[in-house]
Amino acid sequence: AEPKPSTLLDIYDRSIDNVLRPKYLTEFVGQPQLKERLSIVIGAAKLRGDQVGHILFAGPPGLGKTSLASIVANEIGVNFRVTSGPAITRAGDLASLLSDLSDFDVLFIDEIHRLPRTVEELLYSAMEDFKVDVTLGKGPTSRTLRLDIAHFTLIGATTRTGMLSGPLRDRFGFVHTMEYYDPTELSQVVMRSAQILEMEISEDAAYEIALRSRGTPRLANRLLKLVRDYADVSRGGVLDQTTAKEGLDVFGVDDLGLDRVDREILKSLCVTFGGRPAGLSALASSVGEERQTIEDVHEPYLVKLGMVIRTPRGRVATNRAFDHLGIRPVEEQSQ
Ligand code: ADP
Repeated sequence: AEPKPSTLLDIYDRSIDNVLRPKYLTEFVGQPQLKERLSIVIGAAKLRGDQVGHILFAGPPGLGKTSLASIVANEIGVNFRVTSGPAITRAGDLASLLSDLSDFDVLFIDEIHRLPRTVEELLYSAMEDFKVDVTLGKGPTSRTLRLDIAHFTLIGATTRTGMLSGPLRDRFGFVHTMEYYDPTELSQVVMRSAQILEMEISEDAAYEIALRSRGTPRLANRLLKLVRDYADVSRGGVLDQTTAKEGLDVFGVDDLGLDRVDREILKSLCVTFGGRPAGLSALASSVGEERQTIEDVHEPYLVKLGMVIRTPRGRVATNRAFDHLGIRPVEEQSQ
């Protein structure tokens, strides 16, 4: 199941994604090295009249994995088909999806680590030899047929490469782990989105939004829309830095971009667990969130900020976390 919406800033909300999704590499902000590599891979396939090799993107939600997959299809001028690991429950579903593709089409499988094992196994021969085995009939009279499928490109997305089985991971020629964006890149995302949405926004307002978007373009877009609502209702539509700050405060986004759940996690680690290591399940129930949401969305950013570290015994809050909450670490208090 999709993780439940956790906060106002729910990072899985995809309602405006399609409008703002970059269509070509030149529109995709940041990640210069990745764009260069992709344009080489795409250019070579075009030159040779071949399909692009299979690609795996890893990283937290909202960093542009789906966008890049659709960009690959657009740059080559082929169909872009989208599905996800949890949506394919039987091998037959995947077989019929695959036999429907044309040469060079891009098939995007989001959350590919959640494919059932039997489906995953069907994917091996599809990726390697462009063939699928289908079984006709049941019992002793059943026969297995090996069918040819189109020379397609599989693009998989996953939150962490470690979640994929070795045999599946090895079948991707190009594996890239997405990084959080820096504020300069995120303000370019905001300025671009503002232009598409026909909004006027000052550069310092865009930067303010960028600073609080936790390195994530999808969140930058969401915050932009919230700040626009605030500007329209409370500031006569003027979207300057002050408006952006006020609007973000109203919606509970702090100056590091942390939302309610992030703060709950920090509070839990610092106060409930008193700075001692907490296991993921214990932390999740203490905060009242899904394990997966904590692990995929909240924890990676808190780790990046240096507020949480992962140790073999569990998650631990650092002094930065205590500082951010304005409380003193336990050892100091007891002295
Ligand atoms: P993911 O698949 O990693 O969850 P998406 O590709 O769906 O992320 O990105 C979410 C939204 O964020 C997109 O619709 C797009 O508007 C925006 N976005 C992501 N990356 C970029 C980028 N590099 N440049 C511009 N917009 C981006």
